[in-house]
Amino acid sequence: MRIDSERCVACGNCTYVCPMGAIYIDPATRRATIDRDECVECYACYNGMSREHLNPTFVRALRGIFRLMRLRFDPEPDVCPTSAFAPEELVWPRLVRRAFSDPRVPHESTGVHGRGTEEVKTNDVTGRVQTGEAGFTIEFGRTGVGVRFYEIQIVTSALARAGIAFEKNNPVTSLMTDASTGALPEEILDEKILSAIVEIKTTVDRVAEVIRLVRGVENRLDTVIAVGVSTRCDENGEENMVSPILEAMGYRLERAKTNIGLGRISNSPRGSSQNSEGEL
Ligand code: SF4
Ligand code: SF4
Repeated sequence: MRIDSERCVACGNCTYVCPMGAIYIDPATRRATIDRDECVECYACYNGMSREHLNPTFVRALRGIFRLMRLRFDPEPDVCPTSAFAPEELVWPRLVRRAFSDPRVPHESTGVHGRGTEEVKTNDVTGRVQTGEAGFTIEFGRTGVGVRFYEIQIVTSALARAGIAFEKNNPVTSLMTDASTGALPEEILDEKILSAIVEIKTTVDRVAEVIRLVRGVENRLDTVIAVGVSTRCDENGEENMVSPILEAMGYRLERAKTNIGLGRISNSPRGSSQNSEGEL
């Protein structure tokens, strides 16, 4: 994203909109400026603000006159008064920033808008996580923090070294140059995005190992990670396989969401009539 300095009148409205805090008023030029290294190309500034087409020279003069009178001329807070934002034609590798940061843009690899897949939300019909298995979502970054791909690669490499396979229908996996090593393209490693999700699946007996693997590399990352574990409930809606493992590791469990099996099952659970799963 760029801001046309000829059009910007430094009202400052956009500085409150950017989820990465990448827009600031440069005291030297007295124009809004975007820190391109921090900008994740989420387009929140461009799509989230109304645009008026006031003449910049007129607005600057008006603001100057008002200042002399100890008054302020400020546009409405959600408006760029002079349509100063100028989206650029993104090319590889910067293009990858928008694919993972702008929820309006469907990811080419999955057709799903945003950074991840439908993961456990559709397990009723996809049957991705079967009885005796655990699905993991390893979520990197959040608003104000973001994540760079080299940080994601630190985790994917550790998982790959342990022989853990990645969910194929996932945007991060689709970027890998070698899914057996978790390697991502060299040229995107420094690219920053708002967040991303790595998805894997293991047998239940590897749950503790996966969590320890992530914890073993977390101090090499300059971002936040949230690990979600999903598994199938029994016929009573209870879950007694993964919970004891997590509790033994010292985690206090909260069931975050429960699918209740209303979807049309297209891929029935193997060897089981269960069709519901809980995410812990
Ligand atoms: S909202 Fe528009 S005019 Fe105001 S500081 Fe931002 S880019 Fe400049
Ligand atoms: S595209 Fe997003 S990250 Fe970049 S300046 Fe605009 S709001 Fe901030």
